[in-house]
Amino acid sequence: MTPAPITISLLELFRIGPGPSSSHTVGPMRAAARFRSHCLARGITPARLQVELQGSLSATGHGHGTDRAVLAGLCGDEPETCDVDALQRLPDTLRDDPHIDWGGVTVRLHPDDVVFRSLREVPTASLAHPNTLVLRAFDAAGSLQHEESVCSVGGGFVLSAELIGQPVVRDREPKIPFHNGDSLLAASHRTGLSIGEIVLQNDREWHPDLDEQLDRIVAAFRDCVARGLRTRGELPGGLGVVRRAGALLRRLDAGQVEGSWSPIARAQAYAYAINEENAAGGRVVTAPTNGAAGIFPAVLLEAADRLQLDRARIHRAIGTGAAIAMVIKTHASLSGAEVGCQGEVGSATAMAAAALCEILGGTPDQVENAAEIGLEHNLGLTCDPIRGLVQAPCIERNAMGVAKAWSAAQLSLHAEGRGVVSLDRVIRVMRRTGHDMHTDYKETSTGGLAVSLPEC
Ligand code: SF4
Repeated sequence: MTPAPITISLLELFRIGPGPSSSHTVGPMRAAARFRSHCLARGITPARLQVELQGSLSATGHGHGTDRAVLAGLCGDEPETCDVDALQRLPDTLRDDPHIDWGGVTVRLHPDDVVFRSLREVPTASLAHPNTLVLRAFDAAGSLQHEESVCSVGGGFVLSAELIGQPVVRDREPKIPFHNGDSLLAASHRTGLSIGEIVLQNDREWHPDLDEQLDRIVAAFRDCVARGLRTRGELPGGLGVVRRAGALLRRLDAGQVEGSWSPIARAQAYAYAINEENAAGGRVVTAPTNGAAGIFPAVLLEAADRLQLDRARIHRAIGTGAAIAMVIKTHASLSGAEVGCQGEVGSATAMAAAALCEILGGTPDQVENAAEIGLEHNLGLTCDPIRGLVQAPCIERNAMGVAKAWSAAQLSLHAEGRGVVSLDRVIRVMRRTGHDMHTDYKETSTGGLAVSLPEC
């Protein structure tokens, strides 16, 4: 039997939303907004709301702003359109006045209605997914009116707990089906289309306005880089991390970076800019997550500007990166809480390597190989953000991901013969490595760098 084709849309991988985390900020906000609309559709007006954060959402939710994200979702905010400044203030706003509009009536909502369940109370092993939240509505007598258990599975995707492991069901099959890296390559050989074009053709069937949507995503990439490059100062959270993107760009513009390295350094400045904006709670695009949001757009924008790529080539490069993320998401994970940072920065590096390889004229086989190299040399990478803030090691790790993506594209383009490890194989190894990885290293801030600094 032929395996089910991948039915993930490119637009689900590149979502615009607030930082600092796709799984801990964007996903929980979407889950809470969805819960609100389900309640409203059922005519439920709660006297009290409660959200329980479990697993990694609880362990690093304070640093990731998960509490304010679910409060905003319950207020009806969506990640793409929410006011990111008001979002930062929302817990204080609700502490002063714990009431929100609920479809024309006022209901109570206080920051204490978001409850962090410790890993001891709810062990991660007992959960359908390490990022689980349970949302409840109660009536005035304290009886449960409605409850949803939702998993934030990485990259802003949310799924009801009972749907974990099930394929995404769509009303239309993809025009050019593929289910893994090998079948993607086979489809490319059969049709004569590039990997990026296959994804674009599939997505245009689902989204006739795809090119306008992609323009919006590219504009959001550029906007985020520009904000990150012009903003100075210390990032929030008390870790003392100072923004460095603008300073690096100024050194480049002053000719202080050796010429042949300057395209990489420029892309690294862009990655710093995006990840610093993300750490500050600014609006970014998941690529494929917020924590790893800098690598793909940094490589894409630098190459697009230097090589003067037109709209069609930029869109095709986004399609190429999306193809790689689709295969990884289907057969392993994009979530740091599930497989460690290899699923975030590793995946983003593979996406950027593949896109750059295609931009530079690589064949579909070289594109697949570039993605494989990008992922292979991130295998085993743990997720250990200090204080649960998406700052250290995350920001520098994105800049390093840029360099690795450039190297992977070059190594693939100039290799003789095929590599011995396929993309599918390295994805399988990533899944197993993530499965074997101790929970301390999967976005719980209980191991590695996260416990390397004494508490002040
Ligand atoms: S260490 Fe990696 S996976 Fe973990 S929060 Fe940072 S970027 Fe995301």
